[in-house]
Amino acid sequence: MSEIDSNSKDYDFLPANKSKQLKRREVLKGLSLLPLIDLSPLNYWGQTLLVNNEYSASSSSKYSSDPNLHSNAFVMDGHMHMMSRQLLQGLDIGQRYSDGHVDLPRAIQGGLDAFFFSVYTPEPYYESRHEVKNTFRVVELALDQIEKNHKIIELARTATEIEKINKRGKIAAFLDLEGGFDLDGDLNILRSLYRLGLRSVQLTAHNETNAFIDSCYGKKLWGGLNEHGREVVKEMNRLGILINVAHASDDAILQTVETSQDPILYTHGGFRGIVNNPRCISDECATAIASKGGVMGIQFGSSFNNPKYAAWQASKPKVKSLETSPAKDNQSVSIEEIDQQVAKGLPFVHKEVIPDEYWMGVDQLAKVIDYGVRLVGDDHIALGSDFDGGPPLPRQIKDVSDYPQMTLAMQELGYSEKRIRKIVGLNWLRVIREVTEKN
Ligand SMILES: [Zn+2]
Repeated sequence: MSEIDSNSKDYDFLPANKSKQLKRREVLKGLSLLPLIDLSPLNYWGQTLLVNNEYSASSSSKYSSDPNLHSNAFVMDGHMHMMSRQLLQGLDIGQRYSDGHVDLPRAIQGGLDAFFFSVYTPEPYYESRHEVKNTFRVVELALDQIEKNHKIIELARTATEIEKINKRGKIAAFLDLEGGFDLDGDLNILRSLYRLGLRSVQLTAHNETNAFIDSCYGKKLWGGLNEHGREVVKEMNRLGILINVAHASDDAILQTVETSQDPILYTHGGFRGIVNNPRCISDECATAIASKGGVMGIQFGSSFNNPKYAAWQASKPKVKSLETSPAKDNQSVSIEEIDQQVAKGLPFVHKEVIPDEYWMGVDQLAKVIDYGVRLVGDDHIALGSDFDGGPPLPRQIKDVSDYPQMTLAMQELGYSEKRIRKIVGLNWLRVIREVTEKN
């Protein structure tokens, strides 16, 4: 596994307008909100961990306190929901919205250089088998929206294209699919999507088990991945599409790692060692993914990252959430009717007020990142916010414009510039290069 050296000259691909962006951004605005952290020894959730890396006082000279680090770093997010509002509410990503988490003006403000431009086919489309139609229309809309806003954003299919787009001072959109059900069990659908520019696909049907892979919450029909699932993985390897196992069962993740020739991704989630939820990755699965060079993105929500919040939620009567809302009664329902049903939930943001005692800060997310770094090393941890996918966000982050808070939180934790650069973007870039440029 090649390690990317953040101090090398590799960063001359940074957008030409970065320095201008820096002036516009209030990079330091949240610094005073961040609590001071007791660095030695760390106490996580009542459990004392030994200091074994960059925290030690002797290495304090490596700590990054550079207020311009976020602006100067390559920043890429692993999971941002993009087309649901544009499809169902007729919005344009080039406009600034007063609600939701993402639009291009706010992405620029947040210092994003690239992101997984995730198009989403939610569960209600599956039952009447509208998922392929929905997938193609959101991919088409994504391409159309990117084209309309070409002065700000361009489609990238490889790591080199991401770099070239950044050099032109623009954001790179790396097209990603979440919830395509099983793409009608036809590898030609996958090939067509590849031709359209799609380079990252989640294997499960969002939270549902599909015709070839078990999901984390769904029925365990295949003991992981079945024979067709292995064909899908091999075809994605052949084409050079990144394989995303977020939302998959443990067995499915381990078998995908074993089957795939390429490194695989877990684009957004937390660690089960922190919050005991099947949507959080187990230490065993995380270690397996890392052993083949894969990368895991830390999602920004409390459900997967804040044990206090998770315990509070668990103590309440069950409510239908965005992550667990398969529609079982949609037999023969038209796609237009489903559109109306799905549109009622927009924007996909957490709408409940979180009581202060259960509301985490970005310092908690930094601790989750550190749990991952200690477990698998800093070459395998990245960020996958899940903006506009409904996460209960930390108090310092209302939307993508607050992205610099993540860098600040890692600086407060005592991380070096080199490590922070990997986590905020370079790890995604490295794994994208390995999969899309292997020939
Ligand atoms: Zn998801």
